[in-house]
Amino acid sequence: MKCIFIFWLAVVLFTITSCSKLKEKDKFAKASAPNIIFLIGDGMGLSQISTAYYFGDEKSNFSRFRNIGFHRSSDLKYKVTDSAAGATAFAIGQKTYRRAIGVSIDSIPQENILEFLQKENYKTGVVTMTSITGATPAAFYAHAVHRDMNEDIATYLVDADIDLVIGGGRQYFNKRKDGKNLILSLIEKGYLVDTLELSKPDFNRQNVYLLADDNMPSRIAERGDMFAKATRTALDYFEQSPKPYFLMIEGAFIDWAGHGNDAEMLVEEVEDFDKTLGILIDFVEKHPNTLLVVTADHETGGASLAKKYHDTEVFGRKKLIPDEIELSFNSKEHTATLIPVFAKGPGAEDFQGIYENNDIYHKLISVYQANKNK
Ligand code: MG
Ligand code: ZN
Repeated sequence: MKCIFIFWLAVVLFTITSCSKLKEKDKFAKASAPNIIFLIGDGMGLSQISTAYYFGDEKSNFSRFRNIGFHRSSDLKYKVTDSAAGATAFAIGQKTYRRAIGVSIDSIPQENILEFLQKENYKTGVVTMTSITGATPAAFYAHAVHRDMNEDIATYLVDADIDLVIGGGRQYFNKRKDGKNLILSLIEKGYLVDTLELSKPDFNRQNVYLLADDNMPSRIAERGDMFAKATRTALDYFEQSPKPYFLMIEGAFIDWAGHGNDAEMLVEEVEDFDKTLGILIDFVEKHPNTLLVVTADHETGGASLAKKYHDTEVFGRKKLIPDEIELSFNSKEHTATLIPVFAKGPGAEDFQGIYENNDIYHKLISVYQANKNK
């Protein structure tokens, strides 16, 4: 009798310990789904990044990556893409037509990575220095047949259930043709909305910052360190999150410098981007379960770092300035050059090689799939 009792006791104890082990494993499974930070430098090709190595004062943070690849940025119809098709390829995993926001080539809305990860219990964030309805951020939460449909895109943001939003574009929420005030709609949904300044976020709520009527200032002289501050605010917010998170951050104005063939602005914007990149890499090094992927949607301006010549001609020829280079441009538009991709964190090695822009979506999803149950 005693023997049988001991046997049953052993069975019960075994069951209890294996159950609690299972629970522990379950807990660990949730904790191991990787955080994903996706940083896009609009218009940032290899020459743009190279300026950090020739014109910058400090060592570039790009040197801190070991896993580097390239993507081909072309859209489905044309070799030279735009920011809408470029961001949409990252967001939905399909190449599409220029101007498309989160829709396929036949204009049908497709689930984006943010929506997919929300269903997998992720928190989400979108940060930009342009209007939040701009093509790059919009591709991550909206579905529109044309990028210029700012007011429709704003409507998507109200229902997108994003936990932290920082950007401009206030007018598409409160000065609309349909007379609706979407800022009130956001407040009704429980959002903390700040339309004036980058105040401290409420960690227990969802927060939206709409800090300009349209875009924030495109020049550092007026914008100051707003990009770094917005990035820090987002990192502080998600650092408190018990859930994993997906955060998209856009540095928007390298593209503008390219369109304007403005060398001085380009160098400044890459410097600003590099500084923010440093903040992100420091964060990822402290939080190793975070994948950071940095790339651009396309290059802008056909920028190159060529030999520098004196402006004046001597005997019909311009004289070379020895060992000096200058940033020159061969286009006012986007180009088709391959775009560097930098990755750090779990699954970073998947981003080595040369692939299509929409493959980045599939790589992000597969890093999630591979790590979520580890
Ligand atoms: Mg953009
Ligand atoms: Zn552009």
